[in-house]
Amino acid sequence: MAKKTRRQLLGQHFLHDRNIIKKIIEASQLEKTDLVIEIGPGTGALTFLLAEKAGRVIAIEKDAALIPPLKTRVPANVEIIAADILELNLAPIIARQRENFSAVKMTGNLPYHVSTQILFVLLDLKPSLKQAVFLFQKEVAQRLIARAGPKKYSPLSILLQNYFETRLLFLIKPGAFSPPPAVDSACVKFIRRTEPAFFPEEEESKFYKFLQASFSRRRQTLKKNLEKAGYPGDNLTRALSRAQLEPKARAEELSPEILYQLFLELKNRPELE
Ligand code: SAM
Repeated sequence: MAKKTRRQLLGQHFLHDRNIIKKIIEASQLEKTDLVIEIGPGTGALTFLLAEKAGRVIAIEKDAALIPPLKTRVPANVEIIAADILELNLAPIIARQRENFSAVKMTGNLPYHVSTQILFVLLDLKPSLKQAVFLFQKEVAQRLIARAGPKKYSPLSILLQNYFETRLLFLIKPGAFSPPPAVDSACVKFIRRTEPAFFPEEEESKFYKFLQASFSRRRQTLKKNLEKAGYPGDNLTRALSRAQLEPKARAEELSPEILYQLFLELKNRPELE
């Protein structure tokens, strides 16, 4: 297999379609009182317009070669940080500036090969965020907004949808980027909910482990997957019946509310087993 170029390794597909750039900026609904965190400014296709609309932009770019030309051109309200978003501790950087702004919003035409990992950054930062507008590979976007039923639904969709209202805003053809990616893209908006939708935050880590086990083998039943993760079969049979679920139910068919109910059944009533 051919060795990947630096551009490929960094997922560099630069936006050049002015109409799409405008739509992303509009979707971000920025005010002068907003602090914007941009992931991967690249050559600044979004950065300059973000800086026009927002109070301040902090842009995090991993490719050191792109930083000097960007730094010389950006206006004074843009701070460029040379770093890998997956290694940077953003929370204290935001905290230092937070009181000067009414809201913190994220945006980015993400490097697609690490977009799932970046969503965990979004989850980590959720206490201080109001919204995020990100571009993803179309199929990833569809999984993120999916509800129970289609095979696209995943533990990460449930986690994100618990804290954010997720909306797929529009699709983008490869020709909007240079070089064009091999896949279609989609713009997704995440709006922070005032209250979690399905489960309280303190249950997140245990419930997420339960979800990972439940979805681990897509073609298997929920019961088989949970048995493999160590839940005794008898407990599962009783918990499924108490939650009025068929023994053959699959995780992807069940709503987040039902999955959480089952998780609680298994967690809270061990004395009955
Ligand atoms: N925002 C620009 C645009 O729309 O034209 C560039 C988007 S390009 C798809 C992704 C950008 O993220 C590139 O500039 C790439 O160098 C940068 N990048 C890749 N991995 C990164 C990481 N781990 N942390 C920060 N930036 C990263």
